[in-house]
Amino acid sequence: MSETNTRIVTIKMRDEDNVAIIANAGGLPEGTRLDDGTVLGEDVPQGHKVALGDIAMGEAILRYGAAIGHAVQDIPRGNWVAESLVAMPPPPDLDDLPAPNGAAPNGEPLEGHTFEGYRNADGTVGTRNILGITTSVQCVAGVIDHVVKRIRDELLPLYPNVDDVVALTHTYGCGVAINAPAAIVPIRTLQNLVHNPNFGGEVMVIGLGCEKLRPEMLMPKGAECGTMLSLQDKAFTGFGGMVAGILETAEGHLQRLNERTRETCPASDLVVGMQCGGSDAFSGITANPAVGFATDLIVRAGGSVMFSEVTEVRDAIHLLTPRAADQTVARALMREMAWYDDYLESGGADRSSNTTPGNKKGGLSNIVEKALGSIAKSGTSSIVDVLSPGERVRRKGLTFAATPASDFVCGTLQLASGINLQVFTTGRGTPYGLAVAPVIKVATNSVLAKRWYDLMDVDAGTIAVGEATIEDVGWELFHLILDVASGKRQVAADRLGLHNALTLFNPAPVT
Ligand code: CA
Repeated sequence: MSETNTRIVTIKMRDEDNVAIIANAGGLPEGTRLDDGTVLGEDVPQGHKVALGDIAMGEAILRYGAAIGHAVQDIPRGNWVAESLVAMPPPPDLDDLPAPNGAAPNGEPLEGHTFEGYRNADGTVGTRNILGITTSVQCVAGVIDHVVKRIRDELLPLYPNVDDVVALTHTYGCGVAINAPAAIVPIRTLQNLVHNPNFGGEVMVIGLGCEKLRPEMLMPKGAECGTMLSLQDKAFTGFGGMVAGILETAEGHLQRLNERTRETCPASDLVVGMQCGGSDAFSGITANPAVGFATDLIVRAGGSVMFSEVTEVRDAIHLLTPRAADQTVARALMREMAWYDDYLESGGADRSSNTTPGNKKGGLSNIVEKALGSIAKSGTSSIVDVLSPGERVRRKGLTFAATPASDFVCGTLQLASGINLQVFTTGRGTPYGLAVAPVIKVATNSVLAKRWYDLMDVDAGTIAVGEATIEDVGWELFHLILDVASGKRQVAADRLGLHNALTLFNPAPVT
């Protein structure tokens, strides 16, 4: 990072890089002299790259010390390295990845950090106390929406220890190839969502009666507090009968949830999901490294962290396999990458489909550059496990939970995997939120943090201008995670009531 008297701020990640990012709000005009002597040959927008030396046609463009692509023409020193000038390299060969390096880089144990959570019978801990109403098919969604509103208006005021009621409605359940091999993904996701720690072990399943996904498939074996209703049950006369039946059942669950209180839990009971969306060139400089620092803190405290988004790690997978705890974990990483390569290919797409117009406007040339910044969220810890989409977390420490990068799909899958809180970084800005678990939103740049002052929880843009370090923001985030998990602080999305719909990943055919 360099800074002159006129507060021209450029960010170069590694000594060997031949480009730097312009950090100044509004970008910098032609003729500006950077402190290494480079004079801008044209206007360069904020977040975009400037050539720090002459780059010949075909030469590698280096950022993070890695080639993010090759120049399609000569780029003179001081010129804007626009997206159209960068040819993307091929992805790392999955058959030729570095082996685990055997190091145990998790750092010193971090003792003494706690939060106030709801302890569940299965040992997990909720950060919220929510009545979840699971559904086996989309057909019932209208009735459930009606019931949820009635519960919120009429019953919740009677049960003050219950935070909310959330309907797990979705588009699955019928009209789908339920026996296709890939159907395991949406089915497993729905089965595991029921177990999210924020539902306190109370299971309420509403079905229709004739659907392919039988409601009993969503009822955990031996669920002591489970109830199941079907709208086609002959006991229900008309809409009023259904609603009354569901409300009566819900009240039993609410009574039990209302008896729960928060207790002091070690930070090792945290299960935090890391995600990004609407990324820009600052994501990999500010917010994602700060999130990575917080990831390492949670791991050192004995907690669980998940990172995800296959298409955003695919091009950096050669940097992750050396961090696998053993060969089994490394092979599982390769397996999930290969599965996704095939999935994309079968749909006639490839990894380049990931980057959005907003990413590119924000300065990210391609998925290679985006991936190098994205994996910073995983910190430096050893990767101890790999989950296929929708599987439940099995180990403490850092887990790669394979999911699409799509924000709401990743969010839904991480909830099924058992997160009790999510951290989400954004540079372009998104009002994203989840009803089931609090989402802490971290802005990558201060322009966004100021413009969306009431939608963002943390401003990591202070790192770009040297006002804070990655460690400062990482610790701030860690303490905020503990406060939010304790219910002491409310995240912006919850305060404003902004929650995205659950969105299942269904790689299997629809009939
Ligand atoms: Ca995402």
